[in-house]
Amino acid sequence: MSAPTKSVLNESKQIERAAMLIQMGARMQVLESETTLSYERLIRLYKEIAGKSPSKGQLPFSTDWFLTWQENIHSSLFLNIYEYLSKAVTLDTAEQLTKAYRLYTEQIETAGLEALLSFTRAWRLVKFVDANMLTRTACSSCKGQFVTEPYENARHYQCGLCNPPARAGKSKNAGALMLH
Ligand SMILES: [Zn+2]
Repeated sequence: MSAPTKSVLNESKQIERAAMLIQMGARMQVLESETTLSYERLIRLYKEIAGKSPSKGQLPFSTDWFLTWQENIHSSLFLNIYEYLSKAVTLDTAEQLTKAYRLYTEQIETAGLEALLSFTRAWRLVKFVDANMLTRTACSSCKGQFVTEPYENARHYQCGLCNPPARAGKSKNAGALMLH
């Protein structure tokens, strides 16, 4: 295959990937990270597909969100699906993210809940795990895998379902999710 043909093919693959991510609701940072297309190109694609300009502003660069109670349960559910897929099938990161995110929202909807984790947050979560800023730890009570800080003490760790914060009361919402 000649070089120009190859680059045209690669370009169309990049556009296809960007389009898929935009449809999932990804923000510009995700598109810039997961495709090789230029910023200007991505902006144009975004407007064309989403029918509006991408929202401005940086994503918060903090792991806190993923560790708060209900958010943690949603994040853990997503990450468990993501990790499962990485063992079960060979997909590139963008495909794996998209597939895992679809499965996450399906499961949330089946439970009659609202998806707290946006696609862009899901992407951010995977980046934090790749950078060893977050990991999964098994709950010492239910044995489910939950998103935690890397140095969580596994012997004493209890998840947000087994040990909900006092303010949570008897919320049936989070309990509707099974993580094990
Ligand atoms: Zn537990």
